[in-house]
Amino acid sequence: MRFPLALTTKIAGHIIKHKLRRTPRFALVLQLEPLHTCNLTCTGCGRIREYSTSLKDMMSLEDCLASAEECDAPMVSICGGEPLIYPKIDELVDGLLGKGRLVYVCTNGVFMRRKMREYLASIYTTSLEPTLAKLASEKLLTEKEAAVIRHGKSDGRPSIQPTPWMYWNVHIDGLEYTHDLIVEREGVFQECVEAIKMAKLLGYQVATNTTVYKETDVREIEDMFKFFSWLGVDGHTISPGYDYDAAKKDMVKRLGKDPKDFFLTRDMTREKFKDIERWGKHFTIFGTPVYQEFLAGKRELTCTAWAIPTRNVKGWKAPCYLMTDGHYPSYREMLERVDWNKYGVVDGLARDSRCENCMVHCGYDPSGALGTNYRRGDNWKNFKYNFWPRPRPYAEGGKVQAFNGASLGKGHLAEAKAALQANSASNGHPGHPKSAGQDCCAAATVSSDRLTVEDAAARKIGQG
Ligand code: SF4
Ligand code: SF4
Repeated sequence: MRFPLALTTKIAGHIIKHKLRRTPRFALVLQLEPLHTCNLTCTGCGRIREYSTSLKDMMSLEDCLASAEECDAPMVSICGGEPLIYPKIDELVDGLLGKGRLVYVCTNGVFMRRKMREYLASIYTTSLEPTLAKLASEKLLTEKEAAVIRHGKSDGRPSIQPTPWMYWNVHIDGLEYTHDLIVEREGVFQECVEAIKMAKLLGYQVATNTTVYKETDVREIEDMFKFFSWLGVDGHTISPGYDYDAAKKDMVKRLGKDPKDFFLTRDMTREKFKDIERWGKHFTIFGTPVYQEFLAGKRELTCTAWAIPTRNVKGWKAPCYLMTDGHYPSYREMLERVDWNKYGVVDGLARDSRCENCMVHCGYDPSGALGTNYRRGDNWKNFKYNFWPRPRPYAEGGKVQAFNGASLGKGHLAEAKAALQANSASNGHPGHPKSAGQDCCAAATVSSDRLTVEDAAARKIGQG
């Protein structure tokens, strides 16, 4: 089977229950954002920009769990911000699993290995030594980190453990060069790969989560699938990048670029995704085949944004993950008070001009599962996609040149770093402050790196 039976049964049962009750609108996936703080500043991320004035705010654990209870979605995607920064992330995952939810932890991967070391410490006995040795031999664990694990964990808190009911959902937007450019930091891709290797070695389920932008080369995305499939990743979420308000404003203000050069129109999306059904045969792409047909331009769907509601520090965000016309105190109130007929694209006509180019997963994937715009044979297609054997790991994936950037000294900052170094040498500067451990210079370096990254990103985007 492509997806574990228990999960498929749970989701199908949830849909059938509501269909029998004739519930007009209900949730399939809760997008839970306990906080918007993030350690990265990815190009195209509207989240950290839209909520820039409340980055320090966070939801209480009780609020998070009550939100899951209230909307009753069988799947909860914990996102943000970076959810691994949330101080109660372990309790949150544990609490949601305790409520029988399928949990996705959507992460940029930077803190994943730390969380898995905490898990190892919580279960440490000498019988774990072969696992530690294996991790060390793969250079996924240092001796110092192994020593900390051997001390065990006695704070009484839960840890994030491998289970078929939880996925690490790792943000990956391309191979090394592209990904590091988009997340605006070199080394992040490499860290993600190491975290994924460690996770698979420890028995976690892992998915990748990719946004396709105008400048994305789809051949690279296919190579990315091959590489991560070969690494044993369990599935891939892929969605078109859409020019929602906050990301658009940031693009203009911070990078001085026209959003049209970066985000996709509907026609461009269809062109980029024309091979998605073929990808679905070779790789475990999450999302219904009906949504895949929609992305490939073979059919229209009606937006069902209410099926993937977003709950964050300000309340229930309406109408969708991308657009904000208001926040409501409860899911029920949001369902009742929002005029859902004002949004989406119906028969090619945008009801709201802001929806015109949107084909994103959080608006349209549930439409495929819920049978809006139903066509004969759709149920069989969805059934077959779920129950047919899962594609095997891509045998040739190891041949993909995934590390084509910073690890070869060819990252997007390479030129700028060389220029800085040449400048330092001619000024008699003692060298790179980070490697010299000179904290007094670190802030200056970070900010000059940051400017260089922004400049590099702007130049790259300008090529689109
Ligand atoms: S890691 Fe996620 S939340 Fe953080 S900046 Fe990137 S896209 Fe935004
Ligand atoms: S089409 Fe739906 S998901 Fe897309 S922006 Fe409009 S309301 Fe949001």
